[in-house]
Amino acid sequence: MPLTLPSGKRLAVNIGVDFDAQTAFSGHMDHLSPAILARGDYDVYVGTPRLLGIFKKHRIPTTWCTPSHTIITFPERIKQIVDEGHEIAAHGLYHESVPSLSESEERRLMDVQLSHHEQVVGHRPRGYRSPAWDFSDATMTILEEYGFEWDSSLMGRDFQPYRPVPVTVHKEIPNEFGTPAKFLELPVSWHLDDYPAIDHVPGVLAGLMATDGIFARWRDNFDYALENEPNGCFILTVHGMVTGRAHAIMMLDRFIEYMKEQDGVWFATLSEISDAWTD
Ligand SMILES: [Zn+2]
Repeated sequence: MPLTLPSGKRLAVNIGVDFDAQTAFSGHMDHLSPAILARGDYDVYVGTPRLLGIFKKHRIPTTWCTPSHTIITFPERIKQIVDEGHEIAAHGLYHESVPSLSESEERRLMDVQLSHHEQVVGHRPRGYRSPAWDFSDATMTILEEYGFEWDSSLMGRDFQPYRPVPVTVHKEIPNEFGTPAKFLELPVSWHLDDYPAIDHVPGVLAGLMATDGIFARWRDNFDYALENEPNGCFILTVHGMVTGRAHAIMMLDRFIEYMKEQDGVWFATLSEISDAWTD
């Protein structure tokens, strides 16, 4: 079933900010240098204010998927994001690699991260986006048990929300499919993520694409969804440490302007899009 969008709207658009700060690196590296941590500083002190400025200029609500370590380390920034009308969603504790966790450790980290949300934000998040968009075999069950209404980490669709189905993989007989999840999946895509295209980590990620090419890719996906996926959703992922950079923030500004010029576009938080879904 598609979304039921507000009257006159044809496509829901969410800009999701993954506000990782230092955890973008501390969650995945054993040896942290001051140089790599400085990129987390940039996220907090430069990228985030620039993104908030663009969202205020265009008057659009967004969803900030935030590791709870970032929430307890930079509570004033979180307060500013909430005060300016944006949503905070779960994004792990320290940007942990979820598939590498034991089930008991994954549950423990979920307990701790939710307590951090309650402590700083004042309530539990309605949705979850896994760090680096990966699940363990237990994640779907854990999300259901903890009562998450939506997840935004999977790529089983592009422009339509769906209920993900667990799969048991076999080699010589057909795969088996389980019961659809209770939570709604709001799908993501590496093609609609600033990080692999723009950022650069020596020896790890080439990135550094020209913004003209990235803009064209984002616009083509948006145009296709608007034309061919009625009552669908277009979910873009950005990071302050990436799109906060001058050339990228100018591209995002132009891209939001382009989307606003089209008829029938509804800018919403991920929870608002989830609320527009009926099975
Ligand atoms: Zn992240």
